[in-house]
Amino acid sequence: MIRTGFTGAGLDRADHLRLDEAALAALAVHEEALLLRLEGHDPLVDEAGALVWDALAAAEAGAERIFLGLLDERPRFAPVPRVEIGRPAWNIFPTLSLMRSEEAAIWGAARSLIEWHNRHLFCGRCGSAARLFRAGWGRRCTGCGLDHFPRVDPVVIMLAEHRGRVLVGRQPQYPPRRYSALAGFVEPGESIEEAVARELKEEAGVDVTDVRYVASQPWPFPGQLMIACIGTAASGEIELDTNELEDAIWVDREGVGAALAGEAEAPFAAPPRFAIAHSLLRAWADGLAPPRGAA
Ligand SMILES: [Zn+2]
Repeated sequence: MIRTGFTGAGLDRADHLRLDEAALAALAVHEEALLLRLEGHDPLVDEAGALVWDALAAAEAGAERIFLGLLDERPRFAPVPRVEIGRPAWNIFPTLSLMRSEEAAIWGAARSLIEWHNRHLFCGRCGSAARLFRAGWGRRCTGCGLDHFPRVDPVVIMLAEHRGRVLVGRQPQYPPRRYSALAGFVEPGESIEEAVARELKEEAGVDVTDVRYVASQPWPFPGQLMIACIGTAASGEIELDTNELEDAIWVDREGVGAALAGEAEAPFAAPPRFAIAHSLLRAWADGLAPPRGAA
């Protein structure tokens, strides 16, 4: 299995406790219970890049909280602060680079839920206030009673492969020299394989067949599930959609290896290691991606 960013939290999510009011009340006064310390919804880390936790007992009573689960037999909670929604994530990438994947995974789950709560303060059906329930894993409308559940949006992210090279593209807002795998949201009524083929065609004019799944990871900006794939391109021709991409290039294994190693003379600068595009490029460069015909 390919290890990806924002995974490996090791939390027992203890779903059976989420609707058990008595059990939740006991967890909230558990002397070992911990509350994740955040700045808005950004992580705060110590010198070793580890998340900072406070005793839950010291926290304000009655505030909205998410029960993340049990870790090392200690109940773990996250606050639900009011935050600015849809804020770009670039500012915390340096912090994420310091964090172990297990720590980033715990924070990522909290961030996705916090942002979701902030986007769902009111019911989408009747407009009444919606109240946190299921220990933070849902909101229930106070007007019509409709239950709302946290949303995860599937996104495909993929490499097209053609004669020993793969396609990487550049969006205008990327840092200098950065190229990455192409990506896009899966649309209603579409399979993963169809979304991969459509996005590559739309953004780069590349036709692919034989789409193979490689790996997945959560991406908490705000709540995507990234599904990494590889497909075989019919030709090396590129027809760029300049609304989406500034440039796209084919890179061979040596070039991808140099980019992942951070070499100055590499043909492009690779995405950060906590992004699945990095894991996908690594899997391809190391020959770990499923071979053609394995779909
Ligand atoms: Zn309602």
